[in-house]
Amino acid sequence: MALVLIEDSPLEKSSIEQKVNRLCAQFLEGRIKADSRVLIKPHLHMAVPCHAAVNTHPLLVASVAKWCLVQGARVRIADFPVFDPVDTIARKGGYVDVLTELDLELKTFLAVDKVDLGGVFGKKPIAREALTSDLVINLPKLKTDTLVGLQMGVANMIGCLAAEERIHSLSQTPFDRTAWSDLLIAVCEAIRPSLTIVDAIVALEGHGPGMAGRPRKLELLVAGSNPYAVDKATAALVGFDPGKLLTCKRAKETGVFNGDLKVLGDFRITTDFARPVKDMAASRKSWTQRERKYFLQRPVADNRLCKLCSACWQSCPVKAISFSTKGIRIDAAKCIRCYQCFGLCPHKALEIKTPLAGRLKGF
Ligand code: SF4
Ligand code: SF4
Repeated sequence: MALVLIEDSPLEKSSIEQKVNRLCAQFLEGRIKADSRVLIKPHLHMAVPCHAAVNTHPLLVASVAKWCLVQGARVRIADFPVFDPVDTIARKGGYVDVLTELDLELKTFLAVDKVDLGGVFGKKPIAREALTSDLVINLPKLKTDTLVGLQMGVANMIGCLAAEERIHSLSQTPFDRTAWSDLLIAVCEAIRPSLTIVDAIVALEGHGPGMAGRPRKLELLVAGSNPYAVDKATAALVGFDPGKLLTCKRAKETGVFNGDLKVLGDFRITTDFARPVKDMAASRKSWTQRERKYFLQRPVADNRLCKLCSACWQSCPVKAISFSTKGIRIDAAKCIRCYQCFGLCPHKALEIKTPLAGRLKGF
């Protein structure tokens, strides 16, 4: 049976360090030897201040790194962000100061190896460090996400898949949220992190996973060596039914995780954690162009807020976004409702709306 530990902690360095030391000792004691190569994989979503709660908090990353360094490990901290460069995320996100103290810095994964993920996925480029390190420590941020409901431990591992391949994969699985969840699980299985600690000290509720979400203080860390068990417990903590979250559901259906877990710690359920926009596009795997255009919810730009930063059109898997000096335009017939643009817009210039004809039809 998989063990999940919940620790409560305010957003204070000494408290986070103390709780992290306890969690790491529980799950990793004796597993890290002098010179062990440890990869810490935070969630680096975009270059914004840490109070926006879209990235793993720097204090959690630094506390885990410090514990590993004390054990004698060689530590690397890396991710493959989709759009913003890692050094910009490090600077704006408040990582530089806390990591410089430890003589560490955030890195982008440099090399990839093709790994056969099986089934329909075939060989995909995955960060070599994630595959070859002695241990991988997974540090997701608890966030809402229109595509998968909640982002937690399993979803964070997709950041080890090369960013351009992630975008390409979205275009390969349009509207098929089950296939996307299966890919998240396949990547997680290829890496098998040794420890997952979900950063729910300040989580993101509402219209996540980007700036349209709202920071929500929960003061919790949820940890375990089985990322599926950690996700199941975390989802329940914020009032989501794990049986309805596709990553949890598919992990059980595919036999990756039988669902048995034991939770220790302060299991306080937050019942009013705000949900993301309901993903009506997920109700079917195929939509005609006409249905997409006239009925289905889609990202809509408020060009008064748009700063033409290019994050949306550069990350759109099907090139459905065009731009001019007046702002951006989204081709609703082409858009596959992957919500990448929505999650990556740093200026809250995108929202998800259902056209009137769609609302009348109940979409
Ligand atoms: S809509 Fe947002 S992401 Fe797209 S260009 Fe404008 S500001 Fe950037
Ligand atoms: S416009 Fe946005 S939601 Fe539509 S396919 Fe492109 S990135 Fe995805």
